[in-house]
Amino acid sequence: MEAPRERLTLQGFNAEITNYFAEHCEKTESGYKCKKCEAVIQQTTLWVSIHTTLFEECAGYGEVKRFPLPYCPRCEGEPKKISTCVHLAPSEAELQLLGINS
Ligand SMILES: [Zn+2]
Ligand SMILES: [Zn+2]
Repeated sequence: MEAPRERLTLQGFNAEITNYFAEHCEKTESGYKCKKCEAVIQQTTLWVSIHTTLFEECAGYGEVKRFPLPYCPRCEGEPKKISTCVHLAPSEAELQLLGINS
């Protein structure tokens, strides 16, 4: 999958990843495989800037988190878009910064 679009909430972001697995992947003993072509699902690094809902524009804490970004090497190839941002309410952002929610 390509990186989820910018400015999602944490819930929206998680939902995009969860939906991808639900729609495209099937669990195996060692990981996941593609439902369509059965290739082993690969992961690359997704860079997510943590922004705050306090501001209209993309501004925040200067915090960047890494997440695994799954993709099928056969159907999709390596994702071209590997960075995005999530916009967190201050309380969520605090949790994230403390590493409780990551
Ligand atoms: Zn942003
Ligand atoms: Zn595939």
